[in-house]
This record gives sequence, structure tokens and C-alpha cells, in this order.
Amino acid sequence: MLISGVQPFTLLDYPDKVAAIIFTPGCNMRCRFCHNKEFVLPQEIVKLRPSFISEKTILNFLRSRKGKLDGLVISGGEPTVQPDLKEFIKKVRALGYLVKLDTNGNLPDVLISLIKEHLVDYVAMDVKTTPQRYKELAGDLANPKNIVKSINLLKKNSVPYEFRTTVIDGVHTEEIVKEMAQLLEGSDKLYLQTFRPEVTLDPAFEKKKPLSQEKMNTFVDIFKKADIKIVDIRQ
Ligand code: SF4
Repeated sequence: MLISGVQPFTLLDYPDKVAAIIFTPGCNMRCRFCHNKEFVLPQEIVKLRPSFISEKTILNFLRSRKGKLDGLVISGGEPTVQPDLKEFIKKVRALGYLVKLDTNGNLPDVLISLIKEHLVDYVAMDVKTTPQRYKELAGDLANPKNIVKSINLLKKNSVPYEFRTTVIDGVHTEEIVKEMAQLLEGSDKLYLQTFRPEVTLDPAFEKKKPLSQEKMNTFVDIFKKADIKIVDIRQ
């Protein structure tokens, strides 16, 4: 599997677990607000290829951390585009580690297969906007039907999960947030974070300002009314 980076230790990215994170290059979306173009655009990925980390190195690292780490977070890019993701996860699990998957939900069949085979212990899925607006925000590669399929799959609770939304000034109006709340109604957890201007795929987003705490709280209240058990803001 292609691995572009590793963070050997985190207490923040896997709820209630001590974990490491690996990052996989390549993505099947092109979010205009994405901060990781070096791991999304093929012409950028190719430049970083010499610095990729081998699967063997990661597995050896995990062997050396047994008893100190509980789990591995697999993040991207978009991990589900890796053809050998499942085989890699099996090797990680064989070492006794829990696995959390971060995904954009654009490939629900991969998600279904991983859940059915009990290969993931926790899933964090980004929900970027309403299905009707997905292509405008996340590009033509985004498939809104697939996003809805992944959301509904996770809502069935076959694996612990959370949804996450990056809220962007001028993109997420109260009307849009209300539509998103309907889509996520009855789900377990939703974490909101405000967009922060850094280098983005679409340079127009670099001029956007973070949302005020007041606005974020308004959005939290809208989602809470949709019977989502936990709605919180992540910094
Ligand atoms: S899903 Fe969007 S934000 Fe995430 S890596 Fe892909 S392009 Fe970037």
C-alpha cells in the first residue's frame, strides 16, 4: 500500500485510544478547500514518491510499539482508493491493533466490505455539504449518491463512527446546514470544525475567514435539533 506519511503517536485522532496515524496519497475528490494538494493531485504526488514509507517499515514500527499503542488510524488523501487497503489492514490487525479509517465516503462498497469483514473498529467520515452541492464543492469526481449510501450505512451502527464537517464561511449557510441536519438526522456523533485559510486547491478559498464562535454555536444548535446524539466543535 502507498504510505506518504506517519505520525507515530496521537491521543486526539482515535477516540479514547492511543494511536499512530498513517497517511495514504491519492484522492477521489477535489475539494476546493483541501489543504493537502501534495497528496491529492497526481502531478504533485509523483514528486513526493521517493519519500514514501514502505508497508514493511510501518509494520515493523507497529511491532516495536506493541503494548504502547492501541490502534492505527488510516487517513488520507482517501485510503479507500488504495487497491490493497484490505490486505494491509489484515496485516495490521494480525499484530493486535485496532483500526480507525478516515474516509470521504465516496466508495461505499469498499466501506461495506471492510465493515462486513470486521476489519475496521471505528470510521470517521467527512460530510462536506448537501448531496446537491457536493460536486460544486468537492469536484466532479464526488458521487453524491455514494455519499448518501455511506452515510446511511454508518447510521445503521454496525461499527462505531463519527461524521465530520469543515464549515466554511460563505459556503455553509444556515439553510444548507439545516438540509445537512436532515441528512444526518438520528446519527451518533458529528464534529464541526471551522475552515482555516491556508494553501488550498482552489486559491479563492485562501481568502476566506474562519467562522466566529457565535456562528459555529448556531450551527451546533441546528444539528442538535436533528436528534444527533453528540454534536461538538473541534478546534
Ligand atoms: S476528500 Fe477532499 S479534503 Fe479530503 S483529501 Fe480529498 S480532496 Fe482533500
